[in-house]
Amino acid sequence: MNRAINFSAGPAMLPEPVLSQMQNELLDFQGSGMSIMEVSHRGQLFGSVQEEIERDLSSLLDLPPDYRIILMHGGAQAQFSMIPMNFCNHNNAAPAYIQTGHWGRLAVKAARQYVNPCLIDQSGSVTMPESGWNIPDDASYVYTVDNETVNGIEFNHPPSVGDIPLISDMSSNFLSRPVDLTDYGMVFACAQKNLGIAGVTVAIVSEELLAREVLPFTPPLYAYREVLAKSSTPNTPATFSWYVMGLVLKWVKAQGGLSAMNELAVERSQLLYDFIDSSSFYHAPVEEVSRSRMNVPFLLADEALQDAFLKQAEAVGLTHLKGHKAVGGCRASLYNSMTVPGVQSLIAFMKAFEKQA
Ligand code: PMP
Repeated sequence: MNRAINFSAGPAMLPEPVLSQMQNELLDFQGSGMSIMEVSHRGQLFGSVQEEIERDLSSLLDLPPDYRIILMHGGAQAQFSMIPMNFCNHNNAAPAYIQTGHWGRLAVKAARQYVNPCLIDQSGSVTMPESGWNIPDDASYVYTVDNETVNGIEFNHPPSVGDIPLISDMSSNFLSRPVDLTDYGMVFACAQKNLGIAGVTVAIVSEELLAREVLPFTPPLYAYREVLAKSSTPNTPATFSWYVMGLVLKWVKAQGGLSAMNELAVERSQLLYDFIDSSSFYHAPVEEVSRSRMNVPFLLADEALQDAFLKQAEAVGLTHLKGHKAVGGCRASLYNSMTVPGVQSLIAFMKAFEKQA
């Protein structure tokens, strides 16, 4: 078998030991004679999967006592609507959105259906403007995207927003470095990048935010407090996605946890940025301080060669290097399961392509 080196932004590659364990347990999960997909989500077998997910997430993240883990349906984008519905009935104040790229833009669009958010347009950079973020003192929350997957822009520390709760979309860099959750009122992440496969979204919410009243029309399945009161299972969860997430969490722990993930993330991304910066054939468009450890966009100086570059890369098993259609170009996504030799293979290919071009 020849596994591809997969640079997809999501669904992304999974660690091989996780795939093997899924395969081994598929027909007979822990001696039950059934797969995990065939058992009741109210029963003991699945209950222990959920308990272990919550235990492993708490220990990996050093979960503060006044924060709760909620596992939800709907992908990251459902959170774009849930967040204003749940947290904006508070002093009738509008939220503020620091928008650095594509997913922030979509979150603002979703929020506008319910509230009138204050938009801080910082497209392309995570650097605070000299005049400050200019966040209204009474903002109900401040929203950011910790890592903009499409644009390759990542905060290297949370923006400083005073006492206003900070809510961060960590879909594409969750579990890639230690975070101090007390800097945030809420963080969330879909699973299909660093956490497993699509179908489950993790939301970690402070009790302070959970105490807020929801907007009156909020559907019960979109109300964090109600979902939590039903232990994240008000309806049937995506059981297989939860199971895979459980395996990925154990794999992350076995690799040494979030500090080890960060060391690898820095090593992988630095290798690629250093190579691109040393070349006049390739170009990394993001300013250095805003560069993402997870998603590395790059361009070929001669745009006309891009199609051939992508085609030849696919042919040698380096897949999904095409940039998001919103920005074009190329992009290498380097999530937790990407290996350093995987990145070295990409660089070797890029050098060889340049030579023959
Ligand atoms: N936010 C970010 C940062 C993303 O990269 C993505 C793309 N997966 C989303 C939100 C949307 O995720 P989903 O497809 O699960 O709604």
